Amino acid sequence: MKYEKELVIATYNLDKRREIENLLSGLNIKIRTLLDFSDLPEIKEEGLTFEENALKKALLCARWTKLLSLADDSGLVVDYLQGKPGVYSARFAGREATYEENNRKLLSLLEGLPYNKRKAKFVCCIALAEPKGLIKLVKGTCSGKIAKEIRGDYGFGYDPVFIPYGYSKTFAELGGRIKDKISHRSRALRKIKRFIVEYFEKYSQ
Ligand code: IMP
Repeated sequence: MKYEKELVIATYNLDKRREIENLLSGLNIKIRTLLDFSDLPEIKEEGLTFEENALKKALLCARWTKLLSLADDSGLVVDYLQGKPGVYSARFAGREATYEENNRKLLSLLEGLPYNKRKAKFVCCIALAEPKGLIKLVKGTCSGKIAKEIRGDYGFGYDPVFIPYGYSKTFAELGGRIKDKISHRSRALRKIKRFIVEYFEKYSQ
């Protein structure tokens, strides 16, 4: 029987899936998400840190699906807002908030601030777990500043308002090639890749 490598990303977010799948292409693994499984209980993201949420999502997903599972918990940390929106990035402007509503709320809170006070970073914690337990937890960050208006079409979330250091354009203007090279998610995934490879090597013998 041909051995098939399968990895579940513990998310319903198709934007995250697209980026992670792209960054892991080359490993030749079949990527699934929670959307491929019916009747899974809800995973409540109640942790106060990205680490806590990533850990919980990966462990539950691996236990339920019995497959290698990867969870990404990520968000934007803004200096002037004492670290907000942080773990609440997805629901900054309310439970069902759209990306645009979150961006507008952020821009309104920073209204009139000069660029030297608009420092921020994206953070991505990734946990990798097998049904027996945690394999590895890693973190990637990408520093930059918040733009003064929404700019660009690429990506998702806060990409149209985030200008990474060394650039004058937002992630949404820079596009996938540059984002995938320097993003918080790509930095975290680079650290976790070898643990995915090692896992499949161990179980394919
Ligand atoms: P999570 O699903 O709880 O990890 O929330 C992630 C939220 O953080 C997303 O809904 C976005 O608002 C934001 N976020 C995370 N990564 C990115 C990114 O790469 N670009 C833009 N926004 C991001």
